[in-house]
Amino acid sequence: MPVNESSAPSHFIRNIIKEDLRTGKFGGRVHTRFPPEPNGYLHIGHAKSICLNFGLAEEFGGKCNLRFDDTNPVKEEEEYTRSIMEDVRWLGFDWEDRLYFASDYFEQLYRWAIELIKKGKAYVCDLSAEQIREYRGTLTEPGKESPYRNRSVEENLDLFERMKAGEFPDGSRTLRAKIDMASPNLNLRDPVMYRILHATHHRTGDKWCIYPMYDWAHGQSDSIEGITHSICTLEFEDHRPLYDWFLDELEVYHPQQIEFARLNLTYTVMSKRMLLELVQEGHVESWDDPRMPTISGLRRRGYTPESIRDFAERIGVAKKESMIDLALLEHCLRDDLNKRAHRVMAVLHPLKVVIENYPEGEVEELDAVNNPEDPSMGTRKIPFSRVLYIEQDDFREDPPRKYFRLSPGKEVRLRYAYIIKCVDVVKDEQGKIVEVRCTYDPETKSGTGKTQRRVKGTLHWVSARHAFEAEVRLYDRLFSVPDPAGDKEGKGFKEFLNPESLVTINSAKLEPGLKYAKPDEYYQFERIGYFCVDGKDSKDGAPVFNRTVPLRDTWAKIEKTAAGKQPRGV
Ligand code: ATP
Ligand code: MG
Repeated sequence: MPVNESSAPSHFIRNIIKEDLRTGKFGGRVHTRFPPEPNGYLHIGHAKSICLNFGLAEEFGGKCNLRFDDTNPVKEEEEYTRSIMEDVRWLGFDWEDRLYFASDYFEQLYRWAIELIKKGKAYVCDLSAEQIREYRGTLTEPGKESPYRNRSVEENLDLFERMKAGEFPDGSRTLRAKIDMASPNLNLRDPVMYRILHATHHRTGDKWCIYPMYDWAHGQSDSIEGITHSICTLEFEDHRPLYDWFLDELEVYHPQQIEFARLNLTYTVMSKRMLLELVQEGHVESWDDPRMPTISGLRRRGYTPESIRDFAERIGVAKKESMIDLALLEHCLRDDLNKRAHRVMAVLHPLKVVIENYPEGEVEELDAVNNPEDPSMGTRKIPFSRVLYIEQDDFREDPPRKYFRLSPGKEVRLRYAYIIKCVDVVKDEQGKIVEVRCTYDPETKSGTGKTQRRVKGTLHWVSARHAFEAEVRLYDRLFSVPDPAGDKEGKGFKEFLNPESLVTINSAKLEPGLKYAKPDEYYQFERIGYFCVDGKDSKDGAPVFNRTVPLRDTWAKIEKTAAGKQPRGV
């Protein structure tokens, strides 16, 4: 189900690829990769990168690899690897037989490091991490050369081999590229290629105690895999000269690195460190809590892969950082759910309605439309009887002006059923309304083809005897300000957590068919919002419902008023 390519707005990366195909730069090949570090769950920002890399490969008949950037042995965990693969697949992409790990290349990287040493382009340095930082200089001052910079090739080869053999403690030595300590680009001031770390790696075990740095591993991994366009986020722009330097010095196949602006979303934090903090400190239940911006969280919240891909296409790709409105993501979701969600009736805050002139014990099966947008989704039967539930909000004893719902002496239509009229209310000792008494007009049954009387309000309802009781979780935005991670007088992002991001309703009254609702089905509770069945806490015959989004689409309004403007958050 590729996105509609013909309508996709072009962007600079697409244009670069088209130009490279025209000039035959990579022999007409397009080969990208998505390179996550397995140190957290993927989030909506990663989804942008996934859609871009896999999407471009798909569009130009190329390939996209999934490569785990597992060069850091201490932080990585199997759980993350598993979840990342699941998320990429769920988004609808396929790496086929091209699943790689940077750790697969440790041997090759080691041999290449020796080559650079032999060329006099790399040396073993005994400065500590702190000293290396001091020697590096600043943006305005050049760095100082390490006293170990001019070791002989023989000494470097010997020391490097002994580093690998485990003779030296952690942090005591590094292998550094010999480039230029006066370079205006700090990344070129003899960057570290290897550090010593006596740590067990999740794939290579204890085979290695020297581990390659990101910059040393990344470009070479791209080269080994024959990547053509190595697409990454803007913070790597200043690393590109180093990316190019390594490949040029090694005289190996040379992919092209291209940088784009990462996705930032309002009301959201995207840093893995912050997301991990939310999980570890129990502000959310887990990485896949439906309030998390993780792909697994969005999935549990009821997002569809299609809506996320549509979003990624609409936000486009730019060279400049910007903040996208979360309302746009929600708009893409509503757009998709509107087409596929089953309409059903659910009463979240029930108020009892008794229809006095409806025979006791009688039940009628009424026809209800599953989706007015798509007649092929058919109809279903819903039971109607003498005692019903409506929403508490849909009744006012003392209604304000223009209140078209139920109030004493007034009429409303019950969806798919009859027009009813309120004739009395019953209160408890505290004066709280506990029951509304009505009469119905048998001549007004929906769908009978008779000319109908018109009333202004239509309410959803559920038959009390037939109602299925379920837990419903009303999720809302996790943060209550648009930029929780932005520095607000030193306040941390957790100060902006929305205390009402989850409101649980223990026994909502749902139409009976929902007893058999399954995760991966999408629902619209009429007049309330989109809901899905929680994939984790539901059981067969006992589904728990999550609110995906309410119905009101703030983005659609923005789009309408900003006529002529592009639907982007920039
Ligand atoms: P870390 O700080 O751990 O490196 P990261 O978010 O960069 O975090 P990676 O696993 O390295 O995590 O990211 C994998 C890929 O996803 C990279 O190519 C990265 O550039 C891209 N990516 C990460 N965050 C975003 C984002 N917000 N928008 C677009 N792409 C992103
Ligand atoms: Mg990264």
